[in-house]
Amino acid sequence: MKVEDEVVSAETTVVEQTERESPEGIGKETSASKREDKGLNPTDIKLSLKTRIKGAIVRNISLSEPEIENFLDTLSISMLQSDVAQETTEKFTKLMSDRLHSTKFDYKNMRSEIIGEVRDSLLSILKGKGDGVDILRYVRDRAADAQPVRILFLGPNGTGKTTTIAKVAYMFKQNGISCVISASDTFRAAAIEQTEHHAAKVGVPVIRGEYGADPASIAFNAIEYAKAHRLNVVLIDTAGRQETNKNLIMEVQKIVRISKPDLVIYIGESTSGNVIPIQISEFNKFVKIDGIILTKLDCDAKGGNAISISDVTGIPILFFGTGESYQSLIKYDPDFIVNSIVQT
Ligand code: GDP
Repeated sequence: MKVEDEVVSAETTVVEQTERESPEGIGKETSASKREDKGLNPTDIKLSLKTRIKGAIVRNISLSEPEIENFLDTLSISMLQSDVAQETTEKFTKLMSDRLHSTKFDYKNMRSEIIGEVRDSLLSILKGKGDGVDILRYVRDRAADAQPVRILFLGPNGTGKTTTIAKVAYMFKQNGISCVISASDTFRAAAIEQTEHHAAKVGVPVIRGEYGADPASIAFNAIEYAKAHRLNVVLIDTAGRQETNKNLIMEVQKIVRISKPDLVIYIGESTSGNVIPIQISEFNKFVKIDGIILTKLDCDAKGGNAISISDVTGIPILFFGTGESYQSLIKYDPDFIVNSIVQT
């Protein structure tokens, strides 16, 4: 069967949007940097009198068993409080336990060396699989060959997909990259109007159909529209779905077959701790995910689930959503995450 044969004909409408003045925020933006948590610090390493006396005599010493245990308890609490999943926390504290048991430290700098070791080990998990995709560079590099570049967004319901697509469209516009949004969530009531609302605010066109229309055909039409108007990017919104829902997974696989995305981006919440790495891994079995955006970092999240996600899935995290305004999309920064767990 030809790909085109699979497209169930659906009436699509182009909703041209004109840019208004500067896009207004749709809510309060809370900067992630405003959080006041301190995280783990050198004074969390409690040394016994015996160790201190030993350290005054011998230069290189190890921590005693109770000191290691005490520190690992504090480390594990700090990680769990920063939304790192239980499994990753346990794996990491085991790794640190092995290091602390096998390493002698210069007594004078012992505390800062241990904290430095924790920092470096966390960073190596976060940076483990490369730096991820620089979307702007990626689109610029590919714009000439892949006209248009196709980016598909998926993930569970309510995580912020539609809002994030508007943020990405806004970022592209600010950088001189033109785009169209495919309103391929034809399932959730008001989803199409919501997409149109955001698109109007950021001033990009939308390709839409009726509710119940085939989402793949809307995406197909959006790609045709982008080709005809020489737009650089098609941003494909999809209905929220769980990795366990077979029909919806088959539907998104069809969208993938038809739209042939250059990038598939999973949108999840920073606030979902333990479940998200498993959800992403499951999704990734059905549709290959190239990158992740974690939303709602401003909602009392510390971003620690980025560590579990990197550890379990190895898929790069690209951005954090830090508020409801279109500007509140920050580039993923491993140092920022580590700073929420370990004090500099
Ligand atoms: P969708 O169902 O996945 O398309 O999710 P929506 O885009 O409709 O977003 C659901 C809710 O989350 C809306 O109220 C958004 O304003 C809100 N939202 C999205 N991203 C963020 C974010 O980074 N921070 C905060 N605080 N709210 C967000």
